[in-house]
Amino acid sequence: MIPFEQAFEMVMSRARLLESETVPLRAAAGRILVQDVFCDIDMPPFDKSAMDGYACRRADLPGPLQVIETIQAGTSPMKHVSAGECAKIMTGAMIPQGADCVIMVEYVQLDEDGRIRFNAKDTATNICSKGEDIHSGDLVLPKGILLKPQDIAVLATAGCATPHVARRPRVGVIATGDELVEPQETPGPSKIRTSNSYQLCAQMEAAGAAVVYYGIVADTEDALDAVLKKAMTENDVILLSGGVSMGDFDLVPGVMVKNGLEILFDSIAIKPGKPTTFAVGPDVYCFGLPGNPVSTFVQCEILVKPFLYALMGHSYRPPCFRLPLSETFRRKHADREAWIPVGITEDGSVQLHDYHGSAHINALCGAAGFIVIPTGATIIEKGTPVSVRPI
Ligand code: AMP
Ligand code: MG
Repeated sequence: MIPFEQAFEMVMSRARLLESETVPLRAAAGRILVQDVFCDIDMPPFDKSAMDGYACRRADLPGPLQVIETIQAGTSPMKHVSAGECAKIMTGAMIPQGADCVIMVEYVQLDEDGRIRFNAKDTATNICSKGEDIHSGDLVLPKGILLKPQDIAVLATAGCATPHVARRPRVGVIATGDELVEPQETPGPSKIRTSNSYQLCAQMEAAGAAVVYYGIVADTEDALDAVLKKAMTENDVILLSGGVSMGDFDLVPGVMVKNGLEILFDSIAIKPGKPTTFAVGPDVYCFGLPGNPVSTFVQCEILVKPFLYALMGHSYRPPCFRLPLSETFRRKHADREAWIPVGITEDGSVQLHDYHGSAHINALCGAAGFIVIPTGATIIEKGTPVSVRPI
């Protein structure tokens, strides 16, 4: 049994960067950028109006001012604004020469002679200056980031219409267990529906993988061997659920070895997920995850997901909030680090949830995140600040 940090290091140090590909902007969200992106223009590219109103000289306020032209967004001003003059201007339009502020249309009244007058006390400049956000040549997005919708806007602005991103890792998901049936079936006596299959597929897809589901495999060496062989030729990463514990029919590690995979560890000092197994081959990584659904979820989240991102060149740093515990936490056995699902109350304290252990299928549905109880700790007093890792 090795500490989780050691297992994590062993896994992460094995990650070899996948190739890259280009994608259209519409397909880039959620992908990992593998190029530095520089902007080829100033933003804004010209001094522009932040308001609908009148571009004028501050010294001339409150007027009256003669309106000399109307400037629409997308058209250039034709005239210079001189003393006693203004140009009607729309948001996003170029500021005419001579003007040093824009008065908002809401604070303007029309005189009988057609001139306008500013009727508020004071005004902001209401001009966005050329290059105030981005200068031409600036690095706007560094390689290695996970592209979020707001980054897509920056790519578009920088003219990066087909960004280079990491290829999606191919991930094969295999559920093992003679007791399992697919969700559309009604389980017979002693059977249950496979939930891990779909949980793992969803977790991996959310992290950017291209997932193939190989279905349920019986607990026999031959059945496992056949599916693993096939999956090894088709994937970068294979996730097996179940079959890695101490039972007579936990055959996964043996079949991994038979297929030439080297097992780097088969037990982590963590709860849930102790029998988590990691094996590598020349072209494939293979995780044997424990069958209980909370174990599978947690190990996929804290071990597999960062690894998947590392394959794509992204350093995954999950957010972490430090909040006080709303009640005292107690446990009897402290030989392993424990990950406990929690909620967060409206006043910002950490609430322990009803949690029956790693088989508690719906324990995570209402949870906001996990707290980590260190090895050796049996009690954490109410009010102690704890770190919450959101789910
Ligand atoms: P195992 O790791 O194979 O010993 O399985 C541990 C527990 O997890 C058993 O109660 C299994 O029935 C359950 N289990 C195994 N695979 C799945 C699965 N795909 N979906 C839901 N529960 C599972
Ligand atoms: Mg099993």
